[in-house]
Amino acid sequence: MAEANNTPYPYEAPVSQGLFDRASVVTPGGVNSPVRAFRAVGGTPRFMVSGTGPYLTDADGREYVDLVCSWGPMILGHSHPEVIAAVQEAVSRGTSFGTPGEGEVALAEEIVDRIAPVEQVRLVSSGTEATMSAIRLARGFTGRAKVIKFAGCYHGHVDALLAAAGSGVATFGLPDTPGVTGAQAGDTIVLPYNDIEAVRAAFAAHPGEIACVITEASPGNMGVVPPRDGFNAGLKAACQENGALYISDEVMTGFRTSKAGWFGVDGVVPDLMTFGKVMGGGFPAAAFGGRADVMAHLAPAGPVYQAGTLSGNPIATAAGLAQLRLLDDAAYAKVDAVSEQLRSLVSEALTKEGVAHRVQNASNMFSVFFTGSSDEPVKNYDDAKGQESFRFTGFFHSMLEQGVYLPPSAFESWFVSTAHDERAIERVAAALPAAARAAAEATA
Ligand SMILES: *Cc1c(COP(=O)(O)O)cnc(C)c1O
Repeated sequence: MAEANNTPYPYEAPVSQGLFDRASVVTPGGVNSPVRAFRAVGGTPRFMVSGTGPYLTDADGREYVDLVCSWGPMILGHSHPEVIAAVQEAVSRGTSFGTPGEGEVALAEEIVDRIAPVEQVRLVSSGTEATMSAIRLARGFTGRAKVIKFAGCYHGHVDALLAAAGSGVATFGLPDTPGVTGAQAGDTIVLPYNDIEAVRAAFAAHPGEIACVITEASPGNMGVVPPRDGFNAGLKAACQENGALYISDEVMTGFRTSKAGWFGVDGVVPDLMTFGKVMGGGFPAAAFGGRADVMAHLAPAGPVYQAGTLSGNPIATAAGLAQLRLLDDAAYAKVDAVSEQLRSLVSEALTKEGVAHRVQNASNMFSVFFTGSSDEPVKNYDDAKGQESFRFTGFFHSMLEQGVYLPPSAFESWFVSTAHDERAIERVAAALPAAARAAAEATA
C-alpha cells in the first residue's frame, strides 16, 4: 500500500511534522513500533503530549477522542486518578530493585483469582516475551518441536510466530520478514483461522510432533474476527487427543473482553495463557500462566529457562494492579455499552452513504470491514485482506481532521474505555457523516 503515502494530507500539523522529521533521522521510519507511522493511511503521525479520560492532545495542541487507547491498555481512559496515584506512591519508594517484591505477588494473585485456568503465572515485560516464553515452555514440556498458528493471528514479534502474522505485518502485506531463518520458522505450521478440519489434518500429518497450538483467544490483529461457535473448543479437543498444549493468547482480550477476558466469554480451558496490554495499566507488564504441572517446568522450579531484569517491575505492577482492581462488573458493562453505541453509530453513518461494510465485534472490541461486494462475515485472514481498505484511508483522515483518533490501519481493532462519556461519543457521532462520505467517495 506504499502508494497510499501520496494521500493528500488534510490539515497541517507543523509541530508533529517537525518532530517526525527529527525522529526520522535517528529512528528507522521515525517510530518505535511500525503501525504508529501512518504508512498505511499516509500523512504525518501525530505526536501526542498528554491524555485525559477519552481524549489525547497532540503536539500542535489539537484534542482527539481516542479510539485506540494505546492499542488496548487504557481501558479506564488516560490519567485515571487512582492509577496515577498508585504509580506516584510506588515511584516514591524507588523504581527497580532486582529482587522479589510484594506488588508482584499481589498482581499474580489478582490474575489467578480472576482466571480459573491460571494456577500459576510468571510476569514478564511485553506480550512478545509472554508468547515466546509460553512456546518455549510448551516445547520443553512436551519434548516436541512443531507449533500450529493461524494466518492473521499476531503473537508479538517472536521469530517463530512471524509467519502470516496480523497487525503491522498485515498492514504492510509482508508475506514474512527477512531476518527470520528457515530454521526458526520451519517448525511453524500456519493454518487458516476458523478451519478446524485443517487443524485435524495437520495433527494427522505430524503425529507426535506438535508441541502446541497457539491462537488469539478471539483475534483482533486482522481486524476483529471472532472464533466460530465451537472453534476454540475444537482446538482444545484436538490438542488433548494428540498430547499437545492449547495456548490461548489473551494479550489483547485479557481483562478487556470481560473480567476474565475471552475465557470469561467462551469458557474453554487452555493449558497456557498469555496476557499483556490491560494488565500493565499503561506500563510494560505482561504474563504467561496456566496449569501448575506445566508451569513447574519453568526455571528455577524446572529446567526451561526464562528470566527478565525488569520482570515484575514495581511501578508497572502497581499500575496494573490499580487498574485491574477498578475493573469490576460495572466497568465492563460501561465499556460494552460504549462499544455498542459506537458500533451502531458507525454502521448507521456508512449505511446512509451506501458504503458496504460489516462491523464485527468480540464483546467490546470491534472493527469495521469495508466489504465491497461480499456480505458474508469476515471469518479469516483471506476474507480480511479482501476488503476495500482504500475506503478506510479516506474514512480515517476525515475522522482525524475532525478530532477522532482511529487506529491508522484497516487491520486493527478499535478500543474504548470507561471514560468515553456522552460528550466524547457525540463528538464521534458528529464526525461520522463526513467520514462515511469520504469512504463512499474513495477510489482504489
Ligand atoms: C499486542 C499483542 C501481542 C504482543 O504484545 P507486545 O506487548 O506488543 O509485545 C501478542 N499477542 C497479541 C494477541 C497481541 O494483541
